[in-house]
Amino acid sequence: MKTVVLHPDRDRSVRRRHPWLMSGAIARIEGAPEAGEHVAVRSAEGEVLAHGHFEPGSQIRVRLLAFGKEPEDEGALGVRVAAAVARRVADPLLAGTDALRLVNAEGDGLPGLVVDRYAGVLVVRPSTSGMLRRAAAIAAALRGATDAGAALLRPDAVSLRRAGVDAGDATLWGEPPDAPVAITERGRRFRVDVRQGQKTGFYLDQRDARDLVATLAAGRRVLDAFAYTGGFAVAALQGGAVHVALIESSQTALALAREHVAFARERAECRADNAFEVLHAGIEDVDLVILDPPPLARRKDDVKRAARAYKDLLLHAFAGPRAGRLVLAFACSHHVGPELFGKIAFGAALDAGRRVSVLRELGAPSDHPVSLDHPEGRYLTGLLLRVDG
Ligand code: SAH
Repeated sequence: MKTVVLHPDRDRSVRRRHPWLMSGAIARIEGAPEAGEHVAVRSAEGEVLAHGHFEPGSQIRVRLLAFGKEPEDEGALGVRVAAAVARRVADPLLAGTDALRLVNAEGDGLPGLVVDRYAGVLVVRPSTSGMLRRAAAIAAALRGATDAGAALLRPDAVSLRRAGVDAGDATLWGEPPDAPVAITERGRRFRVDVRQGQKTGFYLDQRDARDLVATLAAGRRVLDAFAYTGGFAVAALQGGAVHVALIESSQTALALAREHVAFARERAECRADNAFEVLHAGIEDVDLVILDPPPLARRKDDVKRAARAYKDLLLHAFAGPRAGRLVLAFACSHHVGPELFGKIAFGAALDAGRRVSVLRELGAPSDHPVSLDHPEGRYLTGLLLRVDG
């Protein structure tokens, strides 16, 4: 088998079962593996430690799938896919929705692969050449493990291009519809653009937060900033909000949001606008503010700038006359965890001259499991805050 040989003393992370082997740990590569090919990983002393997919253009040079001496046979991938699906079926925390993540990459022992289900349609999203190459085997496993009538291959083109791989969308089976797919999540109805929408079309990772918003919204005036297709706005309307304002910069997202809130048109207002400017202009009469910006810190170098942007948003959310205002704020980057996000919020509270309490910490729901071997998989942090005085 083609082999990646580590530098002396660079075997620690592999021995700790971390699924990413970084390029800097590699001394040499034997046998010229192709993009995505299965390789063995050997220590400088000659011990075989793991096996995984070779990613030539990527900083994460090998995605490890198996630890120990034995290579994985190709059939193991299908077994893992089926096991990931079975875990969702058995999970009572995922009741009441026909839209969920079936495969969550490292969290399911499948680095480089995300699969989302929207009613009868699956969206398969490989972000590595290893998983892209094996799309047919992955599709066969999904067909066996689900009753989905159609599946779309929608590779993560940005990640793949960074690794030097060009990949387009394709049908895996059935006829994925051109029109948005209707889903129902705990009484909330959405249509998901699986072909053009952000990520695979919908923010499945905010499902539990939507439940929370539905619980909190009764009688309140709500601002859903960075609304995308209005997931939080629909939850707030479902929960009895008296008024919801949606702010979103993308017109295509807003068009779907308008459809989604149509059931309570008289209580909803959709605006194509810059959420930063809306907050700067003042939001005096709002008593539940939801801040769910795009990832402001994709890389570690971005953290300082991102912290300033988060602080700016929070400062304006804390300002104004309403004591008792709730602020539900999210950071979706592994680099901004609960501790740092809490510190940023504290800085904003000091500047705003307000006493602010944390009522609850949130993360992604259980269809987005995080393996303890791979803490980077925890990327979503939410804080429910109350402005006390
Ligand atoms: N809350 C959404 C997901 C938000 S993703 C949900 O649960 O579905 C972040 C969104 O912010 C994207 O839809 C993006 O188009 C939008 N966005 C980015 N910059 C913005 C800005 N300055 N003002 C308003 N919206 C913005």
